[in-house]
Amino acid sequence: MKGCSPNQSAGNEGLPKWAAADRNVEDTDVLVWYTMGHNHLPSLEDWPVMPVANIGFTLKPSATTLFGRPRSSYRPVMLAAIAQRIGAAFRRFSPGPVPDVATWQAMLRNIGFPIFADGQVGPNTRQAVRWFQEAWTFENLAIDAQVGPKTFAALRRCVDEGGRISPNFRMREMKSEGNGWPRMHRDVTRGLERVRAIKGRPLRLVSAYRDPEHNASIPGAAPNSQHIQGRAADISVRYGLFVSEAVSVRAFTGIGRQPGSQLVKHLDVRTSASVSNPVVFDD
Ligand SMILES: [Zn+2]
Repeated sequence: MKGCSPNQSAGNEGLPKWAAADRNVEDTDVLVWYTMGHNHLPSLEDWPVMPVANIGFTLKPSATTLFGRPRSSYRPVMLAAIAQRIGAAFRRFSPGPVPDVATWQAMLRNIGFPIFADGQVGPNTRQAVRWFQEAWTFENLAIDAQVGPKTFAALRRCVDEGGRISPNFRMREMKSEGNGWPRMHRDVTRGLERVRAIKGRPLRLVSAYRDPEHNASIPGAAPNSQHIQGRAADISVRYGLFVSEAVSVRAFTGIGRQPGSQLVKHLDVRTSASVSNPVVFDD
């Protein structure tokens, strides 16, 4: 780097030279600007719009030390916080690899899963990953409980968009009133988006996922309720959804209506019926 004419650098300056001065950085805010450029030979195909070229870099803690301290002296949540801050500053420039377990655990926690960012992948963490994969509507993620590049990219977008799993619904809205875990199959949420679109107004859920214990505590709830599988959502009859409208969005295979008013209370995606011939029942 060389002041006003950086492209004249011989390439032998920058961090090595800066670090050679060995100045004290303790209790000092160090601000680092990075400059990166690339050359390319223009071709006819670049006209009229130059193709996009992505370049970037990642900051990664070394295997044994981080900011001069042994890495093992940091608690996983601190590592996650550090990684998140570094990531927030730089991720727009670099997609980077999938980060530490504690980092994506913190992200799952951020969108509503009641897990700890402890860096340990146990059954709860696996369940959170699986239920996120199942709930994400913008693409069909493989539901394999593995955080690969696709799932991580989706999770990052979800966090960036305030926990939304679809244009208008958040993961948190799907949580059980019992144990607080959120779960909803993407097909339900996609159907709810279509309902919202034909009615032209926001749709608030009355009940979403129910953990088995909570479901058992509800008088009259079916023991094999679709809510236990995260495959059903209840809406208020005041929303004014007619059965014919619920059928017309071709997303639901089970539709529960209030006996008197005939208005829809319950929507599900049971596997025993089809969207063209849904089960309609009094609820
Ligand atoms: Zn229901």
